Amino acid sequence: MVFGYGSQGSAQAQNLRDSGKNVRVFLRPGSPHIQEVKEAGIPITTDAGKAAKQASIAAVLIPDGEQPKLYKHVLEPNLKPGAAIVFAHGFAIHYRRIVPRPDLDVLLVAPLGQGEIVRSDFVKGRGVPCIVAVAQDATGKALIRGHEYAKAISKTGPFIDTTFAEEVETDLFAEQAVLCGGVPELIRAAFETLVGAGYTPDVAYFSCLRELRAITKLLDRHSIAGMRKHISDTARFGAVTRGPRIIDSRTRRVLTGVLEEIRSGAFTQELDEERKRGFPNVRSRIEGERRHQLEKIHRRHSPNNH
Ligand code: NDP
Ligand code: MG
Repeated sequence: MVFGYGSQGSAQAQNLRDSGKNVRVFLRPGSPHIQEVKEAGIPITTDAGKAAKQASIAAVLIPDGEQPKLYKHVLEPNLKPGAAIVFAHGFAIHYRRIVPRPDLDVLLVAPLGQGEIVRSDFVKGRGVPCIVAVAQDATGKALIRGHEYAKAISKTGPFIDTTFAEEVETDLFAEQAVLCGGVPELIRAAFETLVGAGYTPDVAYFSCLRELRAITKLLDRHSIAGMRKHISDTARFGAVTRGPRIIDSRTRRVLTGVLEEIRSGAFTQELDEERKRGFPNVRSRIEGERRHQLEKIHRRHSPNNH
């Protein structure tokens, strides 16, 4: 039983269906995704209690912040003994927002990719890498169940056995340090440096932001050393002599500090406080970002993509 039909839910439910599994989807009554599930030919239920009672495996594919409520009100009172709960991210378990009943298998099958890729790679006969971990093995078969589930959503994998702690801490660190925090901040700082020095903002936007796409493709295919072979000798010389001046020992100390906040729980405490107040800091930061010159240029050049 897949709970939720968003990014991961829709991808995983369709892959499970195509792997011949007896998959069903639970959605809240009135969910905007009901029609989509019907069109995918997957049986659907909007009765939460019934969904949990029927489930031998409950895949919890709703936002991390919503999972504790679903567990407390729906899963804990209704799951049958020996059922398994599968998460796609270990957050709620690792930070003990959910403390599962001792008779349940508690698994992590975390695809290292957005829902869209989980589905499109499967359709192409490939798989995204999948992290598999066990937090609680009530049946003695938890790891086998995890691997079976992982194969059903990600065909070839590769499958990497690890722990909930490792998945959560590396995931949070990578999104903060590189993917969603570090790289965008570097793009904006570089853009501001060029514009501040009097260069044309549109030229700065294309060279600092839009050209990144070609480099991420090279990184994906060839890693860092391989990427260097595919750029000009000027770019290569500039990269190896200037790059380490930008990411220097101070930046490395900051990275260690950011990791330490994740490991100590200080980051999640700060996140909880911010969430309780309705994310005021995030909202004002994002409103400020939207007014930035870079975003105005983007809207002009990509009118349908913001
Ligand atoms: P989404 O935000 O896309 O999930 C939306 C779905 O959850 C909708 O069907 C929505 O219902 C349902 N939902 C939301 N709140 C509730 C609730 N309180 N009760 C019942 N259903 C609810 O989530 P993601 O797919 O992004 O994330 C799911 C899990 O996968 C998370 O643990 C996430 O960390 C993990 N993950 C996500 C990745 C991604 O690609 N986004 C990548 C790897 C892991 P409705 O249809 O009514 O709106
Ligand atoms: Mg993440």
